Amino acid sequence: MNYFLTDDQKMIKDLAAQIAREKIAPIAAELDESGEFPWEVVKTLAQSDLFRVFIPTEYDGLGGGMFEMCLVVEELSRACSGIALAYAASGLGTIPIILFGNEEQKKKYLPRLAAGEILAAFGLTESGAGSDAAAIKTTAKPDGDCYVMNGTKQWITNGGEASIYTVVALTDPVRGVRGSSTILVDKGQPGFTFGKKENKMGIRASATRELVFQDCRVPKSNLLAKEGMGFLVAMKTLDQSRPGVASQALGIAQGAMDKAIEYSRERKQFGKPISAFQGIQFMLADMSTEIEAARWLCYLPVSLLDAGKSPRDVSTEIARSKLYAVDMGIRTCTKAVQILGGYGLSPEYQVERRLRDVLELLPAAGTQEIMRVSIGSAITR
Ligand SMILES: Cc1cc2nc3c(=O)[nH]c(=O)nc-3n(C[C@H](O)[C@H](O)[C@H](O)COP(=O)(O)OP(=O)(O)OC[C@H]3O[C@@H](n4cnc5c(N)ncnc54)[C@H](O)[C@@H]3O)c2cc1C
Repeated sequence: MNYFLTDDQKMIKDLAAQIAREKIAPIAAELDESGEFPWEVVKTLAQSDLFRVFIPTEYDGLGGGMFEMCLVVEELSRACSGIALAYAASGLGTIPIILFGNEEQKKKYLPRLAAGEILAAFGLTESGAGSDAAAIKTTAKPDGDCYVMNGTKQWITNGGEASIYTVVALTDPVRGVRGSSTILVDKGQPGFTFGKKENKMGIRASATRELVFQDCRVPKSNLLAKEGMGFLVAMKTLDQSRPGVASQALGIAQGAMDKAIEYSRERKQFGKPISAFQGIQFMLADMSTEIEAARWLCYLPVSLLDAGKSPRDVSTEIARSKLYAVDMGIRTCTKAVQILGGYGLSPEYQVERRLRDVLELLPAAGTQEIMRVSIGSAITR
């Protein structure tokens, strides 16, 4: 099935698939065990120009959009979703610069991000502000030509590894979320350090850390958009990035099904391959049907976004794609574990890793319940 992809999109998808197969799959289990950040693979992705795909051509990108980014994320996730998340989270930190950066900010950061020389990250979540992102407490008080930042962000993907952080903080705390702004903070800025690294159940090759700000002075020229627009920037960024999480779930599910098919052809019981049993075929049939359904649900909203629809116009479709793809991924990976019998639980066969990885996507970029809140309120309005 070619999914109406353009020649360029097919080329990008094939290239990402080749890297996933040849360079990532052989080391995926090792990375899962060690939890080490995959800088070597990041370099390979950079040399293959995959960081350029969603960056405008004026800033050394290839001028693609979210669809191209999602195709890469899907293919990388088939082999290792930790690497896919490192790539996608850099996109999450970069999107606000593309959408809201001024010329100077774009010129400073986008060409280096496109070349994969540096990674980006996005800092919104705090200990008291998860689903209720409007409850953030981190402050960025104006002081002369700087903001003075104080507070802690948590669960930040690429934390410690990225060079540039798009951070949402309160520039006018009295106004609450209406007084929030988005500020670019460079790694190494005095007063900006990293807290503990999360020892996650899945997606272990990606780094998740706290960002700690203690009287960190950041030049006012690092403000994205305008003061007071922080929440709007964050919500538009999340809408654009949720299809990336859906694509990750899709790729993980496809990888799990590939393994299950391969195993079912080889494993013999009662004198025949278990793939000959209708019970196994029915499970595989359901898996492949759900994967295809998720693929169409994912590809539609990103095509609409790239065609110029505003994220607000397609936010219901985007929420549906994240909700369905993650729930589908959990069902599919569970069936894959089941098809492998006892071996499904062994790290050697790499389906239990995929189940752990896809479970990790339940809260990422908004929980499943928040997706339902968004869809439910839209259809009952
Ligand atoms: C792998 C991973 C990567 C992440 N990367 C980043 C990142 O790069 N940057 C960043 O800023 N954050 C990141 N996050 C954080 C993520 O955005 C939050 O985990 C998410 O917003 C949920 O917040 P929480 O974990 O505090 O859960 P909570 O909001 O505390 O939710 C707990 C439970 O309550 C439910 N709940 C909450 N509100 C409602 C409601 N109104 N109705 C019904 N149920 C509700 C939730 O669905 C959930 O089941 C990441 C998380 C993960 C797991």
